[in-house]
Amino acid sequence: MSYADLRELQSALSTASDIAFSLEAAPTAHEAEQLTDALRRALSAASALGADRGATGCAEHPRGAVDPLYGDKEDPLPPGYGRCLLCNDRRRRASAQRRGWR
Ligand SMILES: [Zn+2]
Repeated sequence: MSYADLRELQSALSTASDIAFSLEAAPTAHEAEQLTDALRRALSAASALGADRGATGCAEHPRGAVDPLYGDKEDPLPPGYGRCLLCNDRRRRASAQRRGWR
């Protein structure tokens, strides 16, 4: 979680709530647009708060190794594989077992 994302979230939410609570009638197109924009900023800041998962992008192994095959165009990883080497190894073992070789 980064402090900047948290500040952005708080500022966007406070802007959105200022606009929402100052409305006394249906918002004008401009007000509605400002409100939507503030909420969108809040949403993207909120998603960024949970996005700090280290290089692997994995919630379980944030400090684990990145799969060296990730992003390899000549030997692409199967669909559903991520950057986390530990999780990808688990997927490899599972799919090897499904195919019947251990
Ligand atoms: Zn993992």
